[in-house]
Amino acid sequence: MLASLLALCCLLALPAAPVSGPSLRAVQEPETAPDQAPGAAPAASPKEHPQEREARAIAAALEEFLGDKKQRMKTRKSKSGRVRIHADSRSSGAASKGLKAVDKVLGEFDVLLGAHRQPADGAWLREDRPLELVLFARSKGYVALIDAFAAAEPRLKPYLDSVKSGTGFTLYPARIAVYFHDPKVQQEARPDHSVAHNAAHLEMYRRFGFTPLWLAEGVATAVEEQALGAVYANWYRDGFVYATSHGEWRGPASARALQDYDLKRLVRYSARPYDDVGAHAAYAFAVWALESEAASFVKFCRSVQARYDAHPEQGGQYQIPAQDQQALAEQAFGADLETRLHSFWLKPPKAPRSKAPVPLAQNKPQATG
Ligand SMILES: [Zn+2]
Repeated sequence: MLASLLALCCLLALPAAPVSGPSLRAVQEPETAPDQAPGAAPAASPKEHPQEREARAIAAALEEFLGDKKQRMKTRKSKSGRVRIHADSRSSGAASKGLKAVDKVLGEFDVLLGAHRQPADGAWLREDRPLELVLFARSKGYVALIDAFAAAEPRLKPYLDSVKSGTGFTLYPARIAVYFHDPKVQQEARPDHSVAHNAAHLEMYRRFGFTPLWLAEGVATAVEEQALGAVYANWYRDGFVYATSHGEWRGPASARALQDYDLKRLVRYSARPYDDVGAHAAYAFAVWALESEAASFVKFCRSVQARYDAHPEQGGQYQIPAQDQQALAEQAFGADLETRLHSFWLKPPKAPRSKAPVPLAQNKPQATG
């Protein structure tokens, strides 16, 4: 059976990069150690990331919007305090379900990678703010928030104008994802999966900054499937797909996808346009890396982050050349990683059980980070 599955899925599109920013700091500079030995010379403080000022302006605009009684927005906070969901009156049910789904997703990250508090290291200082998810079922409120963001940060206006006719957008440095759920065109979309999937993108950004699209999507689908038992919100799924495919990602289709996509092809998969085999291969890589080689996965993401952090003037638009991505993966996992990846998928184990997420205040820096 075929089903039409229109968007309210992945909102990974990025606004254009800032045209100018503070002077760049080379990533080769010594990093600040999280815990220094007594008597050690103090390390230079990391500088604020160039996108932080903009993130603060956007966050302030969101607060102002939420405080405007005319907008009649209701805020729900997760138990952990790591996530807030703001919903208009027609999105109340989706917000409650979404909050539970997001807590499960963040729990998966903690189980797989350990709790994370930043900034522990890295070239740039980024504020650790809660993830903000905003749900609208009324277009008026959706457009009003877009206008508020554009007024706060005129540089983003062309991008924000372009998403007015869409189903949502994400502003990564501010950790904000906004959805407009229009039941007229999104008959089969699952708002709880969409919210959870995009919370996975925001959490990856919180931990590692930007990552190449194939990796970001592989991780988001892996965590969505582990937390919720199915994949509904993979990216650019605006065509026809088999309705039965949602619950069968942890199975032969993903193992077969790796036969088509070796590492060399996977790092070249731009995900535009969406390809179901490429999506399954990216998912298969992420499941293996997260569940079986988490320390190497963190090493890989940190080396990717160092490359992005060397090009902050390009925001998330910077692209790491495919051959470099492959080399970074081989450095982190070892040159024989594909042998282990394939043998993992000969008989993939069941998904690990999720635990409740760790409150932000109690997080410790990762031992592996
Ligand atoms: Zn996505």
